[in-house]
Amino acid sequence: MSLPRLDPRAPWVISTHDLGRRPGSMRKMSPTLPAPVDLAVGMIGVPKDAEVEVDLRLESVMEGVLVTGTAGAPLSGECSRCLDPLTSEIEVGFQELFFYSAEDAGEDDSLLDGELLDLEPTFRDAVVLALPLSPVCREDCPGLCPECGAKLADAGPDHRHDRVDSRWASLQGLKIDDNEDDQEA
Ligand SMILES: [Zn+2]
Ligand SMILES: [Zn+2]
Repeated sequence: MSLPRLDPRAPWVISTHDLGRRPGSMRKMSPTLPAPVDLAVGMIGVPKDAEVEVDLRLESVMEGVLVTGTAGAPLSGECSRCLDPLTSEIEVGFQELFFYSAEDAGEDDSLLDGELLDLEPTFRDAVVLALPLSPVCREDCPGLCPECGAKLADAGPDHRHDRVDSRWASLQGLKIDDNEDDQEA
């Protein structure tokens, strides 16, 4: 196994220099970091370069550095029911042991590169797990009419297609083709 070479200027690469290698030493930090690219699942995600408020606790242990933290980030996406744009926030917690040596680490474990560790994969995994699969603009969003696609929040609770309203009686002679056989795949 070869060590990853980390770029010390990359925003999510954290230096453990101040921690030393003394087990038991601890350090806290609260950086604001730019969100990495492509941090989205389905209809919602963290916009690239959005400000992520991170709280970290770095602890030196025998095998490496244990990082415990939380991160708060803005979300933007689309409501899965009515397709309106929506914004929201996410708060995730994570914990990861970064090993000094590949000999102590398993295949999926994280390694330090000298005094550096890369927090981005840890943050990314935590966010991806926490993102809602079906984001909604509000809990009771009624979504779209399955017949005509009208936004039901605007169309109102009386919006229906199953009977012809008397106000439309004069239009009854017209054939309304509302089949959408040519839906996009
Ligand atoms: Zn909605
Ligand atoms: Zn409708």
